[in-house]
Amino acid sequence: MHIMVQKFGGTSLSSPEAREHVLSHIRRELDNDYRLVIVVSAMGRRGDPYATDTLLDLIEQTGGSLSPREQDLLLCCGEIISASTLSSLLHREGISSTVLTGAQAGFRTDSHFGNARILDIVPSRVLEELEYNEVVIVTGFQGQNLDGEFTTLGRGGSDTSATALGAALRAEMVDIYTDVNGILTADPRIVEDARALPYVSYAEICNMAHQGAKVIHPRAVEIAMQAGIPIRVRSTFAQGEGTLVANPEGFRDVQSGVVDRYVTGIAYVGNVTQITVQPAEQQEANLQLKVFKAMAENAISVDFINVTPSGVVYTVFDCDAVQASAVLEEMGFRPRILTGCAKVSVIGGGINGVPGIMAKIVEALTEQGIQILQSADSNTTIWVLVNKEDMVQALRALHTKFELAH
Ligand code: ADP
Ligand code: ASP
Ligand code: MG
Repeated sequence: MHIMVQKFGGTSLSSPEAREHVLSHIRRELDNDYRLVIVVSAMGRRGDPYATDTLLDLIEQTGGSLSPREQDLLLCCGEIISASTLSSLLHREGISSTVLTGAQAGFRTDSHFGNARILDIVPSRVLEELEYNEVVIVTGFQGQNLDGEFTTLGRGGSDTSATALGAALRAEMVDIYTDVNGILTADPRIVEDARALPYVSYAEICNMAHQGAKVIHPRAVEIAMQAGIPIRVRSTFAQGEGTLVANPEGFRDVQSGVVDRYVTGIAYVGNVTQITVQPAEQQEANLQLKVFKAMAENAISVDFINVTPSGVVYTVFDCDAVQASAVLEEMGFRPRILTGCAKVSVIGGGINGVPGIMAKIVEALTEQGIQILQSADSNTTIWVLVNKEDMVQALRALHTKFELAH
């Protein structure tokens, strides 16, 4: 049996017109003799009736709060509505299908409600249903813990459902359908001349996704990489093949030189706060240890960490800034807090050891009068922290400087 997994994101399912496009991709692959396992997200984005954010807003509107267990129960409804709607559409078309929840499809997770990790997948029911149906629709983003409770996999988690199921079923391909033509050199909502990349290695997109390119969830890529399953990220609304994500060896047959590029793309994470802690008049013993221990004890995730003899500089998400500041002040520190920053990343496997990359970054930003608040690098990424109001200009300037549109 040739199995293909197709995953359709929120915008791909948000309107009757969009769903007609979804149908065309399903019909085409059925004609290609695939048995299809379709993973769906909740329909639409915030404001649309059954989107995940709309469901979350329901809790806000009631002015109440909901325990993580019940919140996951609520969130699972979005994907169930989406899957059932698609099944009814397929029925209209004479295509046999059935719907399975994450639990029924065999997703077993830990009990971390809201951000559960997949422990394993037992896809026997999916395989069984594929014997009788051309299409099995699985609700993305959800699983079940060992006590039988519904869990969700974290925002954007339907991508992870798709690749994990692809791995469990040994699918030939996992196609991630979305509202852009593939993986681009930058977020096209910000950089208008961003270019779709025909081929990207698992490592390249994994880095980009970790640095904020939300076109695919990084966990989804990691799972596909471990299983060696190729992914195509492609548009629901066009017929192109989008971006193939695989190991570079897989590309050499189709196009040479692909892995030689220096920079693959630019990504960003907005809404971060820079925190600087320096010792008071007399030398503070173990300042670094005290600060990071306190952050860990309060479950505040830290990033962009620079430790120097004169103190520490790091970032937290804006939503954690007030708590982080209060914790530090309670310990007697006087932290300097700079909210409204953005982390901009230049990513590429080819930048390692290449002289002049940082010089180009500094040149691009200073030409635009953009102040660099902090920087760091690894062998595949250079990060700069800028004020959020400079972020869009910084992304565009870097995209141009590295000639990514060509
Ligand atoms: P879906 O609902 O289909 O999962 P998402 O909104 O999660 O869609 O992801 C698609 C969006 O990712 C695009 O609309 C685009 O704005 C954004 N995006 C960010 N960075 C990139 C990138 N490098 N390439 C393509 N899209 C990107
Ligand atoms: N519906 C979920 C979310 O909005 C999962 C997903 O779209 O991947 O996060
Ligand atoms: Mg997504």
